[in-house]
Amino acid sequence: MKTDVEIAQEAEMQDIRKIAEKLEISEDELELYGKYKAKITLDAWEKVKNRPNGKLVLVTAINPTPAGEGKTTTSVGLADAFHKQGKKVAVALREPSLGPCFGLKGGAAGGGYAQVVPMEDINLHFTGDFHAITTAHNLLAAVIDNHIQQGNALDIDVRRVVWKRVLDLNDRALRHVVIGMGGKAHGVPRETGFDITVASEMMAILCLASGLEDMKKRLGEIVVAYTRDGRAVRAKELNVTGALTLLFKDAIKPNLVQTLEGTPAFIHGGPFANIAHGCNSVMATKFALKFADYVVTEAGFGADLGAEKFLDIKCRFAGIHPDAVVIVATVRALKMHGGLDKKELDHVDMAALEKGLANLTKHIENIQKFGLPAVVAINAFPTDTKEELDFVEKKCNELGAEVALSEVWAKGGEGGLKLAEKVEEAFGKQNDFHFIYETEQSIPEKITAIAREIYGADGVDFTAPAKKQLKEIEDLGFDKMPVCMAKTQYSLSDDAAKLGRPEGFRITVRELRIAAGAGFIVALTGNILTMPGLPKKPAAENMDIDESGKITGLF
Ligand code: ADP
Ligand code: MG
Repeated sequence: MKTDVEIAQEAEMQDIRKIAEKLEISEDELELYGKYKAKITLDAWEKVKNRPNGKLVLVTAINPTPAGEGKTTTSVGLADAFHKQGKKVAVALREPSLGPCFGLKGGAAGGGYAQVVPMEDINLHFTGDFHAITTAHNLLAAVIDNHIQQGNALDIDVRRVVWKRVLDLNDRALRHVVIGMGGKAHGVPRETGFDITVASEMMAILCLASGLEDMKKRLGEIVVAYTRDGRAVRAKELNVTGALTLLFKDAIKPNLVQTLEGTPAFIHGGPFANIAHGCNSVMATKFALKFADYVVTEAGFGADLGAEKFLDIKCRFAGIHPDAVVIVATVRALKMHGGLDKKELDHVDMAALEKGLANLTKHIENIQKFGLPAVVAINAFPTDTKEELDFVEKKCNELGAEVALSEVWAKGGEGGLKLAEKVEEAFGKQNDFHFIYETEQSIPEKITAIAREIYGADGVDFTAPAKKQLKEIEDLGFDKMPVCMAKTQYSLSDDAAKLGRPEGFRITVRELRIAAGAGFIVALTGNILTMPGLPKKPAAENMDIDESGKITGLF
């Protein structure tokens, strides 16, 4: 069997100008990054902004195995299926982070015959957007420490600088660091840490901003520290919002690439879904909706995380909502939810499969709670048996859920035609989209609504430090924003070990962070970390490049 990178390398890519033509994006509206990548100018928006939106399909999933359940693969394959039918279609995805790429999960450009290309570029440095975010984030950090060094006119409490540094790698040794060592000339010593770039508030800002002006405003609103008498210090007080914004002058423009079958793909922004809001930029989605009649987009991890935040945060800010939702399920993950050991997922175990379906059922119910029509896509793996695939299909039918077998990994767009048909049908169904909570509710009310309705929890507990932060957030008047939940992706609960459809549990909020620039409050549950570590044998150990530039081991 060919690897993802081998399949991608065999692809005959089309000139990106030809891809743009399919959406009637002219050469003038492109900024070329070589032959196969381009950014779309902001002027293009002016031309299309008054057009009606195309249909939006959100692709989400059940709670995943560590390898991922194939949302990106399904998104790409579904878009290719529509493309095969002659539709004017685009897929809108996130940019991969280098952390998981070299860690455990691998890249995020799809898989098999449903990939976006050039996959090596997309998975590595792409058009430099992550570099821009990392640099802007760290410029602000450097300016804060310099302000303290140069006399600290704002009276920043050095024990309460909340703006950390970021790096787009998994590096657990940087989670807690002491900086400013070495004496007077080398800064004021203080404790701080690093997060992964995809957890940066600036990543969220890039993904939610409507343009450069909005970007500047949001960057200025970031709360970076507190003064010794407890006042929140904003980034704008350090007089660098102009400099920060100019670092984003190109990063803010959506990137255009193509799938293996020549379907236009917008790839822009990449917040993780467990520690951030987990979807590509509002700008890219909005561009795609204006240029294409059908747009397929992905929200990260399971529907409890990615879809909830896509719907409650991104849709709220962008004023859009999906016309249909695809829930990706795999036989492998269902068996895991039914209690089968992660190392045994290749084995047939009908009892485990049946038991594990409870996880899928909950996600179907959740999408219905948002008032949206759902279609289950069974992402067929080579190890699945017909008996298993038929069983899942039958059970979905019994539940009254729309379902289609998706074979896009093995067959590309051809393997997604059945799914495309079901999605098309779902467009015609009743759509009563609504949010799970309203922003005017208190923070505990909002988190409780998510925990009870979406996770199936009995309630929410706040640790003593979280209660203190809650009071401070309310006193400072930041409590009327949406909540961005940070939670494990493996379980509907905040405990990764609770698989299936757990019941009789409570959610523990241990920390609340203000993201005033992004416009939400981050609630950290369980022991979720904002800087991942590498596994015992990182994916990086299998990667190589030869003299001719041929890459191996990237997936
Ligand atoms: P997600 O977006 O849900 O995290 P991806 O689409 O990135 O998942 O897929 C995760 C990994 O699983 C990729 O390496 C991909 O090649 C592989 N994969 C996805 N679907 C299949 C499938 N049907 N058969 C085999 N491997 C698959
Ligand atoms: Mg993905």
